[in-house]
Amino acid sequence: MTQPPTAVSPDLLSSAIPALLAGEGLPEFAAMTPDQVKKHIPALLEDLHTSLGAIEGQLEEALAADQPLAWNTVMDPLHRLGERLRWSWGVVSHLNGVCNTTELREAHASQQAAVVAFGNRAGQSTVIHRSLKRLDQQGGLDVTQQRILAAELRDMELRGVGLEGEQRQAFNAASQELAELSTRFGNQVLDATNAWTLRLNDPAELEGLPESLRGLLAEAARQKGEVEASAEAGPWLLGLDFPRYGPFLQYSRRRDLRERLYRAHVSRASGVGEDGSDNGPLIERILTLRQEQARRLGYANWAEVSLASKMAGSEAEVERLLEDLRQAAYPAAQRELDELRACAQRSGAPEAADLKPWDVSFWAERLRQERFELDSEALRPWFPLPQVLEGLFGLCDRLFGITIVAADGEAPLWHPDVRFFRVNDAADGQPLAAFYLDPYSRPGSKRGGAWMDECLVRQRRADGSPVLPVAYLVCNQSPPVGETPSLMTFAEVETLFHEFGHGLHHMLTTVERPQAAGINNVEWDAVELPSQFMENWCYDRATLLGMARHWQSGEPLPEAEFEKLLAARTFLGGAATLRQVHFALTDLKLHSEWAPESGVSPEGLRRRIAATTTVLEPLPEDAMLCSFSHIFAGGYAAGYYSYKWAEVLSADAFSAFEEVDLGNEEAIRATGRRFRDTVLSQGGSRHPAEVFEAFRGRPPSAEALIRHSGLAPA
Ligand SMILES: [Zn+2]
Repeated sequence: MTQPPTAVSPDLLSSAIPALLAGEGLPEFAAMTPDQVKKHIPALLEDLHTSLGAIEGQLEEALAADQPLAWNTVMDPLHRLGERLRWSWGVVSHLNGVCNTTELREAHASQQAAVVAFGNRAGQSTVIHRSLKRLDQQGGLDVTQQRILAAELRDMELRGVGLEGEQRQAFNAASQELAELSTRFGNQVLDATNAWTLRLNDPAELEGLPESLRGLLAEAARQKGEVEASAEAGPWLLGLDFPRYGPFLQYSRRRDLRERLYRAHVSRASGVGEDGSDNGPLIERILTLRQEQARRLGYANWAEVSLASKMAGSEAEVERLLEDLRQAAYPAAQRELDELRACAQRSGAPEAADLKPWDVSFWAERLRQERFELDSEALRPWFPLPQVLEGLFGLCDRLFGITIVAADGEAPLWHPDVRFFRVNDAADGQPLAAFYLDPYSRPGSKRGGAWMDECLVRQRRADGSPVLPVAYLVCNQSPPVGETPSLMTFAEVETLFHEFGHGLHHMLTTVERPQAAGINNVEWDAVELPSQFMENWCYDRATLLGMARHWQSGEPLPEAEFEKLLAARTFLGGAATLRQVHFALTDLKLHSEWAPESGVSPEGLRRRIAATTTVLEPLPEDAMLCSFSHIFAGGYAAGYYSYKWAEVLSADAFSAFEEVDLGNEEAIRATGRRFRDTVLSQGGSRHPAEVFEAFRGRPPSAEALIRHSGLAPA
C-alpha cells in the first residue's frame, strides 16, 4: 500500500509521544519549549485536518446513502478532534500567559492563524452542518445532547454555513471587512490615546498628586527620552492611558489641568486630536455591516443575533432590567452629585456651584476620605495569603461540602511559586477535581489581571474511565518578601474569590458530556454567576472576620474597619450603576434602532439616551462612542448589558442565603448544597434560566442587586 499524500509526521507514529501532544493528563510544562511548539503544532494540525477530512468523507457517504446517524459516530469523533487541539494549544496559550518569553510569544504567534483556520474549517463545514441537522431531526436525544446540538447548529449558522451562492460570498466579504474595521478601530483608540501628552515642568502643576503618580509621570517622561526626569524634580509627562488619567483626575488640585485632560480624553479618536484618527466613519460602517449580516442570517438586527446565544430572551427583557436599574440609580446619582457639591462647598471651592465632569472624580475622592479614611494599603497585614486560602477553603467546605487539600509535588509545575491542590467530596472522600494556583505577579513574564482557565475538562475516556476536571487559577498579587507572606489588599481578596467561583463552576460539574461540562455551553451573560456570587462572601461578617487576622499579632480586623468596607462598597453606587446602564442601553439601541436611514447619527442616538441615563450632560465634544472599544473592537456588541445581567443573578443567588439567615448554620449548609447541585453542577447542560430557578425556586429578580448597590429606597 502506498502512503497517503498527507502522511502524518513521524513523531505521531513513533512510540515516544512528545509531551506537547500527550492530549490527556497533567501537562509536563518543562518539556514544552518554543521549539517544540513550532515543531509539533503544525504536525498536529496536519493530522487533525486529515482526520477531519476522513470524518467528513464518512458523513458524506452516510448522508448520500440515507443511513441514520448516531451521536457516537458524529459528535464523539468531532469532540475528540477538538479536544486534542484544545489540550495541546491550551497548554501553549497558558504558558504564553504565565511564562512569557520573546521566543515563546513568537512561537505562539507563528501558529495562531493556523489554529484559528482549523476551527473555521470545522465550524463552516457544510457536511458537518447537514449531519448535525440530520441528527437533530432523527430525535431520540436527551436534554443535554439537544442543548449541545442546538448550540453547535446555531454557532455554525451564525458563521454563515447555511448561506449559499452570492449571499454566502457577501457574508464572507462583510465578515472580513468587519474584522478589519474592528482592528482599525482598536488601533486608532490606542494611537489617539498615545498621541496626546502634556509636559509638566513646574512642581506647582503637581499639587495634590500622590508620590506613586509623580513617579509614574516622571517614568513616562524618561521613556520619551528625558533621561534626567525624576519624581521630585520632573519633568513629568501626563497622558491619556488609564494609570495616568484616572488617578490624575482623582487627586490633582489643578482644576485647569483636570479640564484639559478630561476634554482630551472624551474626544479621543474623534478627528480632533493631533494624530487625526477618527473612528466616527468606522462606527457607521460597522453598524451598517452588522445590520446587513443580521438580515442575511434571517434576523431583524444585530441585537437579535447577539441575544440568540444568550440567556436573556429578548431585547425587551434586557430593556426592562436596565429600566429597573435606571429608575433606582437615577435619583441616587442625583443625590450623590449634590453630596459632592456639598463637599466642595465645605472646602470653599469656587466650583461648588457649578460642578463639571472633570471635578467629579476629584470630589468623590475627597468625600471618600472624609467618610471612610479607608486606606487600601493599610489593611494588607490582615490578609496574608495562607490565611485567606484557609478562610476560602473553609467556606467552600461549609457551603458545598468539599475538602481542599494541598497536593504540591503531585503535579509538574511551570514555576516554583505555583501550588497544586486536590478537591475531594467531604462526605465520602471521593476525589472530584484539582487545581493549580499561581498567585503572584511576575512583571515581564506573566500577563496582568486574574483568570480561570481549563486544564482538563470532565469527560470519560474511550474505555469508560473518568477524567476529573483540573483548573488553572491565576492572580497577580504582591509576592512574599523575605519572611513576610504575600499580604493582600481587600480588592485582591475579592479577585481571588471571584476566580475561585469560576474554578468551582468548572470543577464541581457533574455533567458527563464535556461539551456542556462546567463553563462549557453556558450562555455568556450567565457565566459570571458563580464568580460574582463568591465575591459576596467577602462582605459576609463570619467569613471575613474569620480570615482577617493580623499576620504578626493574630488580632482580628477591627470592627470599625469592617464597617468601613461595607459602607465603601455602596459609595457612589448610583453613579456607577447609571454609567453602566448608559453604556448598555446605548450599545443595545445602536444595534437595534439605528440604521443609516434612521435620520439620526449614532452619537445623536446616544445623546437621546443620555437625557435619562446621565446626571451631567455630556460635553459637546464628548465622543465616547469613538473610543467604545468593547462594542466596536471587542466582542461585546449588543452584549454590554451582560455585566449587569450576571450581577442580577449573582446578587439574587446570594440573597437566598440572606433569606434563610446568614447566622443559621444548618440552613446555610442546605442552601449551599442546593447551589452546588444546581448552578455549580449542571453547567451548560440546561438553560441557565432553568438552572437558576432550580436553585432559587423562582425567576431572577433585580431586587437584591438594587439593595446591595445601596439603591433601595430607605
Ligand atoms: Zn469573571
